[in-house]
Amino acid sequence: MQYNIAVIKGDGIGPEIVTEAMKAMEVVGEKFGHTFNFTECYAGGNAIDKYGIPLPQETLDVCKASDSVLLGAVGGPKWDSVPSDKRPERALLGLRSNLELFVNLRPAQMHAALADACPIKPEIIGDGFDILVCRELTGDVYFGKRGRRESELGETGWDDMNYSVTEVERIGRRAFDMAMKRNKKLTSVDKANVLETSRVWRETMHKLREEYPEVEYQDMYVDNAAMQLVRNPGQFDVITTGNLFGDILSDEASMITGSIGMLPSASIGKTKLGMYEPIHGSAPDIAGKGIANPIATILSCAMMLRYSFGLGEEADCIEAAVEKALNDGHRTADIAKEGEKVLSTSEMGAIICENIKG
Ligand code: ATP
Ligand code: MG
Repeated sequence: MQYNIAVIKGDGIGPEIVTEAMKAMEVVGEKFGHTFNFTECYAGGNAIDKYGIPLPQETLDVCKASDSVLLGAVGGPKWDSVPSDKRPERALLGLRSNLELFVNLRPAQMHAALADACPIKPEIIGDGFDILVCRELTGDVYFGKRGRRESELGETGWDDMNYSVTEVERIGRRAFDMAMKRNKKLTSVDKANVLETSRVWRETMHKLREEYPEVEYQDMYVDNAAMQLVRNPGQFDVITTGNLFGDILSDEASMITGSIGMLPSASIGKTKLGMYEPIHGSAPDIAGKGIANPIATILSCAMMLRYSFGLGEEADCIEAAVEKALNDGHRTADIAKEGEKVLSTSEMGAIICENIKG
């Protein structure tokens, strides 16, 4: 089969890590008989430099016409003085809303070979940490009206928080489906003791729950969830929540794995078209040095194969290749311990490609 992939390498370490991910895709394609056609386009800081805006129409058009989007990372200190509505990060919001990507899937998995990096005591972590955060991505306070007004307390900022039943239903259904594919365990996180949006969220989830009697379901307030993730992380499998809470909890969950350069993400929606990117940022402090860890981006490709193209075996092959590289002791600087040999971005990429070939 042929697949068309829009590639946004982005800023900072983006080009370095995406280059390795594209090589991994090519090798997997050769092995399984698929062709991946890559079309490069611009978004983020590089688009500001080239076109004066973070998300040119041309990029949106290429993305919409593709089967999926692979993204490195956008942003960096170079664009710090750009006005807020034109900042590089706006490109991400624009892509998500224009491509109607309303679910953000963030697996946080601790690799056994890197267990030492986990900041939580081994007796609490037990036999590992492997959860999936399913965050709503196109609603909530991030997309409500906002503004400033004069109040009795002086100048006051306000942000409008909204969730409709329809929005909760579509994310909720995806979360239950993911739970069915994994360990049939779902925690829905809200703040229904305070927020009306959360009451809509909870009521809607309870209706959906009836369609998925096999799933062990629980509600949890967000403050408790933040605490429980550290206190007893093993109780979670799939977590679903709104845009704001999900932003915070998914970062918390990823820190439990101890290695930011390892974690992939997927933003998916109505159609098969999804956007796949590492959870880390553009890491300007190490950009251009050839030392970034390409694994998060390579694992994002595995998610693309699985969720957009339905190529489960191919995705497993990439994940196994990464696992083998780690088990064989290969490390980039961010995951190396003192005295361990440190590989460059391209050396790590090459080892993973060899492992994919098998
Ligand atoms: P953003 O606002 O874009 O999320 P950030 O400053 O919060 O950016 P990152 O860019 O993710 O965070 O970087 C945080 C730290 O992790 C930096 O020191 C960076 O060098 C390191 N880091 C991030 N990604 C990688 C990677 N792939 N390989 C090695 N180190 C990384
Ligand atoms: Mg960040």
